[in-house]
Amino acid sequence: MSTPDIRTELIKLVELQGLDKKIFELNQKKEEVPLILERLQKAFEGKKADYKTLESNLQKTQLQQKEKEGDLNAKEEGIKKSQSQLGALKTNKEYQAKLAEIESLKADKSVIEEEILKLMDEVETAKKALDEEKKILAGEEKIYNEEKRAVEEQAKDIEASLQAEQGKRQIAAAGVDKKILQAYEHILHGRGGVALVKVSNNSCEGCHMRVPHQVINEIKMYNRLITCENCSRILYLEEGE
Ligand SMILES: [Zn+2]
Repeated sequence: MSTPDIRTELIKLVELQGLDKKIFELNQKKEEVPLILERLQKAFEGKKADYKTLESNLQKTQLQQKEKEGDLNAKEEGIKKSQSQLGALKTNKEYQAKLAEIESLKADKSVIEEEILKLMDEVETAKKALDEEKKILAGEEKIYNEEKRAVEEQAKDIEASLQAEQGKRQIAAAGVDKKILQAYEHILHGRGGVALVKVSNNSCEGCHMRVPHQVINEIKMYNRLITCENCSRILYLEEGE
């Protein structure tokens, strides 16, 4: 195996790093997609829950009304029964007692009627609120679906770009010396998608630490790959630096 020409390999790595940077950024965006979708869905579910609460409140009030109507029927039956018993009573005392009982039942009945009227009002108010919320929810659902669709479209674009960049990368990587590629990729995965950095103004562009003159001289010799003493990334110089 012949020794690779470091200067030529570095030029290829610069191209590869450009592609890897794009791929890294696209992958980050791709990873965010499910999180964004989940956040949108949760927000919409929250709004649906508000609607469900109003709906269940309405049902509770309607149930209360039904119960009161049952109570009212019972009182009316009681009144009828007592009234039918009036004719059969022997003494005035018994008669007066029965009349008092009927009056008491009528008073109860009138209290229940008041309660029913109040509940009917509540039902009406709750129905209006629910109708209003239904409209709001329909609007929210429309927005949610649009946002979701937009994110899904973006995800498709990201995927297409990723495929394209990965295709280019495959070609670019194939041209790099195997050992150099291995070293580069090892750093790439451990250093947030940046394995190769320029030295500018005597500093490493990866970690911004000063690069000693001795190291810069070593880079210029192109004998081997030189890495930053601080961040371990491969260093290169642009022509003229
Ligand atoms: Zn560095």
